Amino acid sequence: MLSITVIGAGIAGLWQACSLAKAGFAVRLLEQGDETLSGGCSWRAGGMLAPYCEAEVAEPLVVRLGLRSLELWRNWLPAFSQNGSLVVAPSRDPASLQRFGRLTQGYETLDGAAIARLEPALAGRFNGALYYPTEAHVDPRQALPRLLREARELGVETVFHRSAKLSDVDSDWGIDCRGLAAQDAWPELRGVKGEMILVKSADVRLQRPVRLLHHRHPIYVVPRDEGIFMIGATSLESESRGGVSVRSAGELLTQAYSLHPAFAEAEILELNAGLRPAFPDHLPRILSRGRHLFVNGLYRHGFLLSPALAEQVVQYLRRGAVEPELFHEY
Ligand SMILES: Cc1cc2nc3c(=O)[nH]c(=O)nc-3n(C[C@H](O)[C@H](O)[C@H](O)COP(=O)(O)OP(=O)(O)OC[C@H]3O[C@@H](n4cnc5c(N)ncnc54)[C@H](O)[C@@H]3O)c2cc1C
Repeated sequence: MLSITVIGAGIAGLWQACSLAKAGFAVRLLEQGDETLSGGCSWRAGGMLAPYCEAEVAEPLVVRLGLRSLELWRNWLPAFSQNGSLVVAPSRDPASLQRFGRLTQGYETLDGAAIARLEPALAGRFNGALYYPTEAHVDPRQALPRLLREARELGVETVFHRSAKLSDVDSDWGIDCRGLAAQDAWPELRGVKGEMILVKSADVRLQRPVRLLHHRHPIYVVPRDEGIFMIGATSLESESRGGVSVRSAGELLTQAYSLHPAFAEAEILELNAGLRPAFPDHLPRILSRGRHLFVNGLYRHGFLLSPALAEQVVQYLRRGAVEPELFHEY
């Protein structure tokens, strides 16, 4: 049986470890942080699985792999939130909703009454919306530990507090999923800072992620269990590991408040920021150097793309076949 070491237990590494173990490889997963899995970018993510909405800014490759990933998430975890997603715009700005519709597919157009039926909390607040019924979302803080549990059940050997590089690995294959830390191997990898806020409100109920379009400060609000909402996210060309700026917090909260005024009374639970690992073209890559593979550049799509990228790696190791747009050999 071929042995494989995966480095990094973010969303990319965890999906790799589970998929490779399921495919019959002997897998070891090394992570420099602890078992809370809270050290990487993945802990700070919204967890939206929104291939259609992402087409507003992403290439067709991301949409194609994202649609495949949605199927893989469903096969793995049939009970996760599959309520679609909703896109709204301020009533004075219908053009931004039309533009979003032109750039995307897979939606139904809703009027005010249909919005009220779908999300009663938003009744009377918007004249129109785009509804993407097949999109979904997961709570990263539930999905990451669940993937770790699954990896262990599949026989993956998991080692925490172990900082490693592929050059240290003695397995048949090594897979580097270190996110932004792989800048030492790929200097063109950069961090795109995303700030987010977690709030708790007993007065707002949403069934699905809602994106509020805005020419300068678009936001999304992702509902989680127990009245918790993730409000995200900025996108800043900064690799500062600092937290959330006062300006960003103000913008995110003001927009959340304009989505629903009850957010004004919500309790702030957490202000946090992650660095999204991105290549210059914002596309994910599987980079090969001999018996080493690097899975990186997941940018704003780590949850959306990790299952499909893991499937691609399994196919590559079994048959040498992989989506050509993804694969780069050095
Ligand atoms: C605010 C925000 C919102 C987002 N929302 C979404 C969303 O809704 N949907 C979506 O699909 N994506 C979203 N993203 C993007 C997503 O979070 C990233 O694409 C994803 O987390 C990247 O995952 P990764 O596994 O490559 O990196 P990471 O999550 O950073 O994982 C890398 C892991 O490697 C470990 N590591 C590093 N160096 C070493 C070493 N030497 N040895 C051992 N271990 C090491 C780290 O500790 C870490 O655990 C969002 C990002 C942000 C910041």
